[in-house]
Amino acid sequence: MRTARKAKVAKKAEAAAAKKAEEAKKAEAAKKAAEAKKAASASANRKCSQCKVTQERQSFSKKQWKKDPSASTCIVCQQNREDLRTSVPSIFLSYRM
Ligand SMILES: [Zn+2]
Repeated sequence: MRTARKAKVAKKAEAAAAKKAEEAKKAEAAKKAAEAKKAASASANRKCSQCKVTQERQSFSKKQWKKDPSASTCIVCQQNREDLRTSVPSIFLSYRM
């Protein structure tokens, strides 16, 4: 008797899981449709030449956005490059001392 009850509970859980999976599928389809729509308006996104990640307009500075799409770098990569540039001399100095 106990096992039968357990089976019933398991079946219920299974149904709930199936429903959840279906909902997730629907959500993903909606997300995909939204992404496709976004991609259609090509100017909204751009691939960073440094990290190769496609990012939105606000991830690029005005200056970078004006550049050729294949040559523009996102703000994060730009910042990283700047950090590298400013940190090299100090490392160099401490090394010499
Ligand atoms: Zn980047």
